[in-house]
Amino acid sequence: MFPTDLDYFALTEFRHPELMYEPFVRWLDKVRGVAAVAFVITDDARAEGDPNPTGSAGKHSLHRRGRAVDLRSRNWTASEKWRVVAAIFDLADLAPGKVELEPVYSATDEHLHVGADETATEHRFLQALE
Ligand SMILES: [Zn+2]
Repeated sequence: MFPTDLDYFALTEFRHPELMYEPFVRWLDKVRGVAAVAFVITDDARAEGDPNPTGSAGKHSLHRRGRAVDLRSRNWTASEKWRVVAAIFDLADLAPGKVELEPVYSATDEHLHVGADETATEHRFLQALE
């Protein structure tokens, strides 16, 4: 069930709100508040038939389980990017699982992949070649 009492996120900002893991959405809402930066979700939970985007390999399971989003970072200033990452670090230990953070940057794509993996034992900063 998608929560209706969030400070920032609305159900309409997600393509598959019904597949999102509620504690992760609540945590991400807190991150958004601390960062005080506009969040645009470009990818959230993936349903059975949804294809994985090309590139990037191991991180798809969190999208499949409603525990990851991609945030558009193309329009953030350098200081806004800093605030988002700082908020993620500050709140990492409150996440429902270990945080998975990956800045994706290429000529055609610029986003921040953020997830929380309940099966992981450490927070992870990923770098992938897109
Ligand atoms: Zn992602």
